[in-house]
Amino acid sequence: MLEFAQFLALVRSTAMILDDIRVVLVNTSHSGNIGSAARAMKTMGLSKLYLVDPACEIDSHASALSAGASDVLGNAVIVEKLEDAIADCALTIGTSARSRTLSWPMVEPRECGEKLVAEAENGPVALVFGRENSGLTNEELQLCNYHVCIPANPEYSSLNLAMAVQTLSYETRMAFLNKQPKQEAQDDTVYPNSKQTELFYDHLEETLYNTGFIIKQHPGIVMTKLRRLFNRARPEEAEMNILRGILTSINKSIPK
Ligand code: SAH
Repeated sequence: MLEFAQFLALVRSTAMILDDIRVVLVNTSHSGNIGSAARAMKTMGLSKLYLVDPACEIDSHASALSAGASDVLGNAVIVEKLEDAIADCALTIGTSARSRTLSWPMVEPRECGEKLVAEAENGPVALVFGRENSGLTNEELQLCNYHVCIPANPEYSSLNLAMAVQTLSYETRMAFLNKQPKQEAQDDTVYPNSKQTELFYDHLEETLYNTGFIIKQHPGIVMTKLRRLFNRARPEEAEMNILRGILTSINKSIPK
């Protein structure tokens, strides 16, 4: 099992993976979408936003919608062409709301997150989003290694840009969390041992005789069924003590 300090060190180093995953928005027209995308990213631990030739100002509307993610917005890198945003990336995944005439290696959103996280260990990787009205051009899509399509309602498959950023950022985070070293949850629960459990069953049986619920000559299978019930529920030691207390109080209240 990992020492706590080792665990923290590992968590810290893996957190850097997210810093190497960049979200690239191409030619966005609505500043609100840029703000919302920044917010979507930050909620999932992503921070590197690249804006390719934005068709709008990064205005107060963008800031308002970015909410607490104004740092992501403020640090956004603005470039002229998609090539500039992905030049140093060994893996680029392009997003598309529909499968096009262009046939290209496709990945599912889950696999997209897994690939980004796996390859970000070696250096920067990019997830590219298109224009609100027309998506990515074929030339832009051809700069990508894979395409990802969120399998939405086939009759209405085009998500709002920032929602698409949220969905794929979420998958990225899930893939990231799955790679985190797991610290064994410490289980402090104390269960009664077999002897204590048998004493409880004796106490229960004796009480049920005393109340007349079972008759000594015809015990039937009540005790077997009750054993099965309590064994399945697996009361903790403290809970069994409460049950024993209840049995004691029942016995006391039975007129002798
Ligand atoms: N009319 C455009 C839709 C653009 S939606 C088209 O047909 O391509 C704006 C952007 O949001 C898309 O370029 C893509 O980056 C993202 N997006 C929207 N819906 C998506 C989906 N179902 N799967 C993947 N990306 C999607």
